[in-house]
Amino acid sequence: MKNFKKASMFVFIMIMIFSLMGCEDIIDTNLDSNTGDILEIHFIDVGQADSIFIKKGQEAMLIDAGNNKDGKTVVEYIKNQNVSKLNYVIGTHPHADHIGGLDDVIDNLDIDKLIMPNAISNTKTFEDVLDSIDKKGLKITKPKVGDRYTLNGAEFIVLAPNGESYESLNDYSVVVKLIDGETSFLFTGDAEALSEKEMLKSNRNLLKSDVLKVGHHGSVTSTSQEFLDAVDPYIAVISSETGNSYGHPHKEIIERLTEKNIDICRTDLQGTIIIKSNGKSLEFNHKEIVLNNNSPVNKPDVVISNVDKIEEIVTIKNNSKDEINLEGWKLLSVTGNQEYIFPKYVLKGGEVVTVTSGNKEGDLDWGSTNIWNNTKSDPAVLYDEAGKEIFRFND
Ligand SMILES: [Zn+2]
Repeated sequence: MKNFKKASMFVFIMIMIFSLMGCEDIIDTNLDSNTGDILEIHFIDVGQADSIFIKKGQEAMLIDAGNNKDGKTVVEYIKNQNVSKLNYVIGTHPHADHIGGLDDVIDNLDIDKLIMPNAISNTKTFEDVLDSIDKKGLKITKPKVGDRYTLNGAEFIVLAPNGESYESLNDYSVVVKLIDGETSFLFTGDAEALSEKEMLKSNRNLLKSDVLKVGHHGSVTSTSQEFLDAVDPYIAVISSETGNSYGHPHKEIIERLTEKNIDICRTDLQGTIIIKSNGKSLEFNHKEIVLNNNSPVNKPDVVISNVDKIEEIVTIKNNSKDEINLEGWKLLSVTGNQEYIFPKYVLKGGEVVTVTSGNKEGDLDWGSTNIWNNTKSDPAVLYDEAGKEIFRFND
């Protein structure tokens, strides 16, 4: 992509705007497209599992289908998008939280090409998938690194698996990078650090992507620092379930993403996440984001860039170049109606400050009580000293 540098700047501007909107409240509208059909990526909320539906005009694909119990939900979801044929289906690897619902998808939808790695599992779930494949007379296409497939003008490239055999089934995960014009998405399945290392070796220069589907539900076994640095995404999407027994996403990964100022979208907190691309810009919300250097970037200077409700850490960022004195500003936990009034604190341009509760370590201390509701929605709202709402972080 020879215009990639320019594209990166465009996307950067988009992200500045996006971070004001958060990744929530995604509603359907029409992003104007000059370059053909809109590409839609739906990270379907299937709990502790993955299922990603991708559509561009009349063509569509699916990456994983959730657990066994999610099969019908996924099929319904796809049918509700007026799609009855999938040009591609990728079963990233034979674990139940990825291929569990695949038999339902195969039984109920037309499929042109089914891509699955050369890995087997002796579970009933896997056998059910093979039965459905047989019944339908489908052929499995093995992924080959470097293979390219088109989706109505967009294109995806296979980046993993690079090896023949692995100890962990996760490392067999089919990893693809989807490119639509100047926008790009990396889907990693459950690929772990070993597979990431192989991708860094074989295709480092292809890894850079605007959106990263974080590997293995945000587990520390994936998203190694070197890999994350190479992908260098603006947005990270994590598919997991609240209260899952694995503790996904792991706090180390959230920290790793936060440190790089990557916006985090989570199905466990936000439900199904939809991202749209017109080949130049991405849309997460009702407002179209125009990506050019003349964009009127009407953004507040100070934003809540993250609320880690489990760790009780709120991160506030000053996006302007100037220092801002937060004295008298207020941070509100909406559900518990608890408020924190800022003492004199000068936040320098481009810097962040953390407000922590429950005796957690941070820059500003909100006391020993836990503030954030971990089971229900609990938006965070920031007000300036005059009581004007500056930023709302929905969850
Ligand atoms: Zn998984």
